[in-house]
Amino acid sequence: MQFVYLSRLFLTLLYVITLPDQVNISLNSQLYLKPDYLNHSFISGNKIRKLKWNILEAKKLQQTTLLTFGGAFSNHIAAVAAAGKEYGFKTIGVIRGEELQKKVKQNPTLSFASDCGMQFKFVSREDFRNKHKNYFIELLKATYGDFYLIPEGGTNSLAVQGCEEILAKEDAQFDFICCPVGTGGTISGIINASLHHQKILGFPALKGDFLQEEISKFTSKTNWELITDYHFGGYAKVNTHLISFINQFKKEKNIPLDPIYTGKMLFGIQDLMKKGFFPEQAKILAIHTGGLQGIAGMNNVLKKKKLPCIQ
Ligand SMILES: *Cc1c(COP(=O)(O)O)cnc(C)c1O
Repeated sequence: MQFVYLSRLFLTLLYVITLPDQVNISLNSQLYLKPDYLNHSFISGNKIRKLKWNILEAKKLQQTTLLTFGGAFSNHIAAVAAAGKEYGFKTIGVIRGEELQKKVKQNPTLSFASDCGMQFKFVSREDFRNKHKNYFIELLKATYGDFYLIPEGGTNSLAVQGCEEILAKEDAQFDFICCPVGTGGTISGIINASLHHQKILGFPALKGDFLQEEISKFTSKTNWELITDYHFGGYAKVNTHLISFINQFKKEKNIPLDPIYTGKMLFGIQDLMKKGFFPEQAKILAIHTGGLQGIAGMNNVLKKKKLPCIQ
């Protein structure tokens, strides 16, 4: 018994994942950007934050396989695959859409994940909707053996704990902290780590009223608000306005933005600034949560539609 305890303790101590703090970049006198996308070479941004404590937990439980879910261009799928490779887990990705089975090579996200060693199970949209139900999990266990399950998008309480580490001491000077929102895990961590005088603004990348409730599951604080005017029609929906904003931003600031999350957030922040939303003296920090691996996949879609691409 004692040996088991000691060996687990040892494993826990052995696997320390440290993510470097990033120096904030000033975009103008009011607005700063935390380039958290630079925190890791392959699992960048909030996805490594969300995985960190889950990886340590999986090691502690002596699990050898990580299993998770995602769509064709999912940052989370790419991150779990890369994390598996780096930290020594087998990885299984349950992917929405049976038709993708034949398109792995053409799909930048899936081919990256596959190169990292991820094994895929392609399922219909209906099965995917039922993915968290017991019978489906049992079926997966019958096929793959035991695994450590990470939900779609990676949000659970350990993920929120990881996102509580995004803010640094120096960030106390900011009055507003902005971040993009998908499942709500990242903003929940930021809210938990925020100070009373700070207001956290979330920019949802998708339509839907469920987020308010999701976030409330992970935080009891109330110093936050969702700005729902900048989803551009829904998840992964873009228009030429957004694409040219992203290209202009890169040209002027030399900072790449992704089209699904950070591009929409920065577009929103700059629009709100123009409209006088923020008090003149207020200092604003925007969190760059990463997602750059999604640019190649989006460009494939834009090319097909003969629309301008992200440079
Ligand atoms: C996944 C993701 C988000 C959304 O994070 P949630 O915790 O799901 O709200 C934001 N930005 C980027 C770049 C992401 O990949």
